[in-house]
Amino acid sequence: MTIVGLTGGIGSGKTTVAKQFEALGIPVYIADIEAKKLMLRSKIIKRKLIQLFGSEAYINETLNKPLIASIIFKDKTYLQKMNAIVHPKVASHFKKWALKQNAPYVIKEVAILFENGGNKQCDLVITVTAPKAIRIKRVLSRDNTTKDKVEAIINNQWSDEEKIKNSHFVIDNVVLAKTKKQVLHIHQQILNKL
Ligand code: ATP
Repeated sequence: MTIVGLTGGIGSGKTTVAKQFEALGIPVYIADIEAKKLMLRSKIIKRKLIQLFGSEAYINETLNKPLIASIIFKDKTYLQKMNAIVHPKVASHFKKWALKQNAPYVIKEVAILFENGGNKQCDLVITVTAPKAIRIKRVLSRDNTTKDKVEAIINNQWSDEEKIKNSHFVIDNVVLAKTKKQVLHIHQQILNKL
């Protein structure tokens, strides 16, 4: 199965683009969503997160996000430790999922693909881009957050330039109609490569 990684900075429009591939019949795996589901479902993940963050890591079967965010905020190594628990489980869940799909290729949407070396598990990588100011504006109107917080996330992610250098395809997502055309073109190019 050909695995196409789909990435891009916060607010670039990864999920918007993923939906356009889905509309073409391509199965899409959104790693962030699956990770969240696994954190609630997997007994092993739960046990390890409780070991890491303490007995308050879950409240009424839901993840205690404020507690986890505050611990990570104070000590960044906790994010790496949490990722070391969650990422291998997502990777094996994805592999099983991909094997079940009946399609010429699958899309794996991962926000921090290059940052964690996940691009090495992909046959091809697509990066979605949009100007920083537009991305900030989109996230501010979508989420209950602040400009400073969005900028802090952007500064923690690889720059678009670095991502583009390491990608097979780039989608410039500003005008939706143009994005759709790029998606169609890339879809065709991927099919031609197979
Ligand atoms: P994140 O990394 O924050 O999850 P993302 O890269 O998956 O974000 P989306 O959720 O697809 O980005 O898009 C962010 C917001 O911007 C959404 O509200 C979406 O509807 C909107 N959006 C995305 N692309 C466009 C576009 N071309 N024109 C207008 N709005 C857009």
